[in-house]
Amino acid sequence: MIDFASGVIDGPGIVTARRTLADLGGLFADQAALAALDPNIVVYETHGYPEPESGSPALLAATTVLYPGRVGGEAFMTRGHFHVDPTRGESCFTLRGSGVLLLRDRSGAEQRIAMEPGSLAMIEGRFAHRVANVGDEPLVFLVTWLSDCGHDYAEVAAWPRGSWSVGV
Ligand code: MN
Repeated sequence: MIDFASGVIDGPGIVTARRTLADLGGLFADQAALAALDPNIVVYETHGYPEPESGSPALLAATTVLYPGRVGGEAFMTRGHFHVDPTRGESCFTLRGSGVLLLRDRSGAEQRIAMEPGSLAMIEGRFAHRVANVGDEPLVFLVTWLSDCGHDYAEVAAWPRGSWSVGV
């Protein structure tokens, strides 16, 4: 059972992870604004099934709860990543709040897709993906993906600060 308001999934084996400003602050352009904020502020939480250790690829699902907030003029956002296997896409279904799904491929082509309750975005596997909360309440969304997609966070993290975000 998914609680659409909190994003919490009630089920066997569900794992919760948290990312704080201390984990994510390097993404934001305004490092002076960051330094004025409590590094323990939670930016987002995920709730989902753990990755299988072996065997055939599994279809996985997880919710993300991205809290409202900003660092300087940039909205709170997720870390963002590429899939190592570009044939592996992902679905993104919004349950609560108001956000932007940011997509960018290696040619620099970008798409920005509005997220509101009920919106379903199908992300092609070649696009790096990140979500920003542009509202004043938690943004809750459900993603599904295949467990063998592979996650590359480093390439996105190496892009210049402030170059792939949403202003608020
Ligand atoms: Mn992904």
